[in-house]
Amino acid sequence: MKKKTIFVISLTVILVTFLLAVFVQFNNQLKDQLNSHIKDHLEEIVKPNVVSFNMQIKEQIKRVNAISRVLGEDGYEIGSQEQIDFLKVVIDDNIYEDYIIALPDGVAISCTDNSIENVSDKTYFEKSLQGESYVTLPEHYENIIDPVIMLSAPITRNDMVVGVLICKYPSTELDSIFNTKLLYNLGEIYVVDKDGDKIIGHSEYTGDTTNLFEFLSQECSTDKSDSFDKWILNNETKTAMIVMNKTKKAIFLTYTKLDYGDWYMVAMVDEKEAYKSFDNIFNEQQKYIGMISGGVIVYLIILLALTFSDVRNVDRLTGGLTLRMFKYKAVKELKKNSSKAYVFVKIDIRNFKLINRIYSYDYGDQVIKNIAKSLEVTAKKENGIFCRVAIDEFIILLPFKSREYLDEERNHFIELFSVFMGEEFNKVITFPTGQFIVYKDDPERLDIDGIIEKVNFAHREAKKRSGDIIIDYVEDLENKEILAKSIEDRMNSAMENDEFKLYLQPKVDILNHNVVSGAEALIRWEYDGNSFMYPNDFIPILESNGYIVKTDMLMFEKSVKFLRNMIDNNLKPIRISVNFSRIHLANKHFVEELCKIADKYAVPHEYLEVELTESVLSDNVMKIQELISELHRNKFTLAIDDFGSGYSSLSLLKDIEVDVVKIDKEFFVQSKIPNRSKIVIENIITMSNDLNALTVAEGIEIGEQVEILRDLNCDMIQGYYFFRPMNADKIDLEIFNKEYTK
Ligand code: C2E
Ligand code: MG
Ligand code: MG
Repeated sequence: MKKKTIFVISLTVILVTFLLAVFVQFNNQLKDQLNSHIKDHLEEIVKPNVVSFNMQIKEQIKRVNAISRVLGEDGYEIGSQEQIDFLKVVIDDNIYEDYIIALPDGVAISCTDNSIENVSDKTYFEKSLQGESYVTLPEHYENIIDPVIMLSAPITRNDMVVGVLICKYPSTELDSIFNTKLLYNLGEIYVVDKDGDKIIGHSEYTGDTTNLFEFLSQECSTDKSDSFDKWILNNETKTAMIVMNKTKKAIFLTYTKLDYGDWYMVAMVDEKEAYKSFDNIFNEQQKYIGMISGGVIVYLIILLALTFSDVRNVDRLTGGLTLRMFKYKAVKELKKNSSKAYVFVKIDIRNFKLINRIYSYDYGDQVIKNIAKSLEVTAKKENGIFCRVAIDEFIILLPFKSREYLDEERNHFIELFSVFMGEEFNKVITFPTGQFIVYKDDPERLDIDGIIEKVNFAHREAKKRSGDIIIDYVEDLENKEILAKSIEDRMNSAMENDEFKLYLQPKVDILNHNVVSGAEALIRWEYDGNSFMYPNDFIPILESNGYIVKTDMLMFEKSVKFLRNMIDNNLKPIRISVNFSRIHLANKHFVEELCKIADKYAVPHEYLEVELTESVLSDNVMKIQELISELHRNKFTLAIDDFGSGYSSLSLLKDIEVDVVKIDKEFFVQSKIPNRSKIVIENIITMSNDLNALTVAEGIEIGEQVEILRDLNCDMIQGYYFFRPMNADKIDLEIFNKEYTK
């Protein structure tokens, strides 16, 4: 499965889980919120009832006090008939059931039926006798549901309590409070005393149980935050949710202390009913959850749809195909078999990251879009398809007609691109190109991943080289890669087994009777007894892993030994030039090391020459000047190899003091030296002579070339015409310092 798919699926799972968690959490929170809302609401609703209860009682107390004041001041004997009669009149336009006057000894006379009772042991009597107005219930009231409330007040005369007035106030007078439309008539309200006994009002919830505490502890459990031991009625308002054990009904319960009688007002409402009355809030909230969840689900669906359809098929930047879709369509195209062959071409812009860096990322994007636009024209015209594989890398599939046709298409693409980007821009741009042609009869022609791998491989090779290069995939290419790997693995043992051999290619002094006066040291790798490898096949690998330092020094040492051998054989030594890789320039002790090796074998330095290619020298002019001075101080000479291959070869000569100029063998690949080349060669030679540098022509295979070069005053020739490189161990020392004769 692709990373992206895994990512999207994981994202979806995470989002759904997250959503569920949020939903559950939100719902719980909502419930909690609603609960606290209901609790608050209940307290709010109960509050006015508490206030009006307190006020109503207060009113009655005031009234009782006023009457008792009258009784205290009327001058009649306390409890006298005059006073009873007065009360009878008062009671007629009052709501009290009875007035009772108690004398200080506790004897009490009722004004309704003149009956007498002893109230000396009653709390209300005691309290009022001490000067307090008091509110209570009769200790044994018969009417549990609608009891009378006992209100008592002291009767004072000359600042002395001379009696107590007791009024029986029917609790039905408070009905309006208890019948209040609590939560849309869904709840109930009543009063309990400090022991939890219900005293006023009635409750269906508590049923037959007349004590609230009993009801709570036997029938109910509280919600988590509350336990019954906390439920000792105190002075604060308290609300909680309780669950009835039997019915599992949840009830909200609130109680508030009243100002009188040590009583508490209790309100209860069924949770479900309460919720119902808050339906609109609940629904509103749920609507939001619904909307959010809906939104997220739609988003997920879009995300999934995009991932599995368009996003996977359409490239974000260019709007073209993605690699996945390209592969799918390519297989379809290959199956059609409508062309004898198809070609897959992969291109990119060399050093694209510089474009981003020098211009901007936006500009870089524009460049990519323009590549896509140019490829699209070709693809449309030729019935091909293309896609962007990576940042600036594209693959195009076209029916293959011929190589010439393919070249034309490529040129056409470059032209189009330069129209989009502007000529100037195009001048500095190169497109390393890798291509692979799939023929109709190729058994693996539908293995699209294999094909992409091959075109990638060719493209990688093209990127390794310079310029606007096109590399065709051939099996060989891959073999080379495998070889590179095995070379790396074998290097150490090769060194130990002395598999790197010194070959010498003699140089002939054509201006001095063809005397063989020098040689170039060339490395060869002999392995497995009779296998053989040329430097071009392994030097780049040795250079890339730094191993070249060892082999170059080895060739140098072998050359020194060769010269030692010549000296030992009483022969005049020749001058041997040794190739050195650019890597040595980084070594400050390079010349020092050369001296050490030469001195170890006591070989005079003037017989040794360092060869560096022109490209190495031109890239490092400053460093080279120092190096040359050091070489010269130590009597070594320096040759500039492959001269003429670069763009500014001639100007290089003015900057550095080379001893030998080796003219690039590329000038001599054709048997006849073209006129223009001849002019260049002539100039190289003249200039070298003027600068006191010797000239060597390399790669000379034909006698005519020798003669031309002689005419042009070239000093020496190194080429197959005279000698091929020869194993230094087997070389006939007699050939040196003698005229060459064929
Ligand atoms: P180079 O230094 O320019 O060496 C000359 C190359 O031209 C040699 O190839 C030689 O065999 C070849 N050659 C000479 N005469 C003719 C001819 O008439 N016709 C043709 N077609 N070729 C001729 P070789 O030995 O394969 O070496 C290739 C390159 O590898 C060398 O080019 C040099 O750059 C590098 N090289 C060789 N040995 C060493 C070494 O020990 N160290 C380093 N760093 N590079 C080396
Ligand atoms: Mg060379
Ligand atoms: Mg050369």
